[in-house]
Amino acid sequence: MNLKPDEYRVVLDRARERSMEWIESVPDRPVAPSADVNAMKKVFARPLPDGPTDPATVVDELATLAEPGLMAMPSGRFFGWVIGGTLPAALGADWLVSSWDQNAGMRYASPATAAIEEVAGEWLLDILGLPAESDVGFTTGATMANWTGLAAARASVLDSVGWDVNTRGLQGAPVITVLVGAERHASVDLALRYLGLGAPTIVAADYKGRIRVDALREALEAVDGPAILCLQAGNLHSGASDPMRSAIQAAHKHGAWVHVDGAFGLWAAASPSLRDQLDGIETADSWATDAHKTLNVPYDCGVAIIAKPNLARAALGTQTAYLIQDATGAPDPYDLVPELSRRARGVPVWAALRQLGRSGVISLVDGLVANAQALATGLAALPGVSVMNDVVFTQVCLTFGSDKRTREVTQRLIADGAVWMSGSKWRGNDILRISVSNWSTDADDVAFSIAAVQRAMA
Ligand SMILES: *Cc1c(COP(=O)(O)O)cnc(C)c1O
Repeated sequence: MNLKPDEYRVVLDRARERSMEWIESVPDRPVAPSADVNAMKKVFARPLPDGPTDPATVVDELATLAEPGLMAMPSGRFFGWVIGGTLPAALGADWLVSSWDQNAGMRYASPATAAIEEVAGEWLLDILGLPAESDVGFTTGATMANWTGLAAARASVLDSVGWDVNTRGLQGAPVITVLVGAERHASVDLALRYLGLGAPTIVAADYKGRIRVDALREALEAVDGPAILCLQAGNLHSGASDPMRSAIQAAHKHGAWVHVDGAFGLWAAASPSLRDQLDGIETADSWATDAHKTLNVPYDCGVAIIAKPNLARAALGTQTAYLIQDATGAPDPYDLVPELSRRARGVPVWAALRQLGRSGVISLVDGLVANAQALATGLAALPGVSVMNDVVFTQVCLTFGSDKRTREVTQRLIADGAVWMSGSKWRGNDILRISVSNWSTDADDVAFSIAAVQRAMA
């Protein structure tokens, strides 16, 4: 018996209705969820049903029960962590990806998704100004994109000293020195841990959180043996990027591989007015970014880019009789990322880029920065508010006099729920942190959000 299309129609119609209910609620609903996770556990914690339930009822029940515990992350008034919204074409494409249900691992098995992802990869390299022959893989996020770049780095720097990590592993291997800036993202440390490389060697950062090239040169002088440098495009707090050209040059002089974590900051490269901040970035060896942040595709979607073709495949690829390769011998999607089976998460990237076009991507990135700057200017005008960073990209850090007062304002703002900004600590201060990452944030959202902070202060 084949599948019965009508059974899907009822469920998908219901899913579409309930999705639209959610989307229609986003512009006006409080950003904060009204129920916490304990309340949600009570709602969902029922014994496993003894028998089946009508599928449309399942979808209805899911939408109804989940609603109070959903954060309006797609809202233009959500500025927490670094979290993008979803462009309409990307969401529609994501639905198709689920409906198509392709295992996107092999070119031979899923020609359409393989081709779409390859084109999406070429478009990304074009708009980000990275070497056109690079390999592009789609991962769950930037953590695994960092892992992918660093896995290729590990294999390559060991290979250069005559050690094949694929056969010999790390036991007895030459020690790899991994250099990172003091303010790299925690996911870099995770990726290194997963790769068996342990904790990195820390290089001092300046007051904007950028790696100090003088300190880097000194650290490189002390290195004996294979080395990897991990740079950052887009500091979580300041939005500033490491000085790419000079840092990469210094590292390459020592034969080190340079990986760039650009989870959100790599997108500055797409904008002619911001690209200077990343001058020289195209000379690195690998890059990680997220499409689910700045590009505003649905979760989950990261991008791992390796400049020299075939290095990703050498580190991550495999060949067996049952994974059938097509006649071209081109790398299969599974050769470029840690997964064999996976969803075609690059398809929504294609759709987002197709919707926006080159000018749309530039407006998206420039618009996020303009809104961050407008928020910073508006908030700095309130008595007792200081903006800690030069707002060069999408991130704004605020203090409200004392740490205690900053924590109080943050708590009241979150309790109010109309907007969402997250608390953090930076350079020894408690701060309120804003990340403008949503394509739909507009001038009204900016004014509304400034008023919300003012309320929380009062
Ligand atoms: C978000 C982020 C990451 C991790 O990305 P995930 O998509 O959450 O895995 C890494 N680096 C930076 C700078 C980030 O902002």
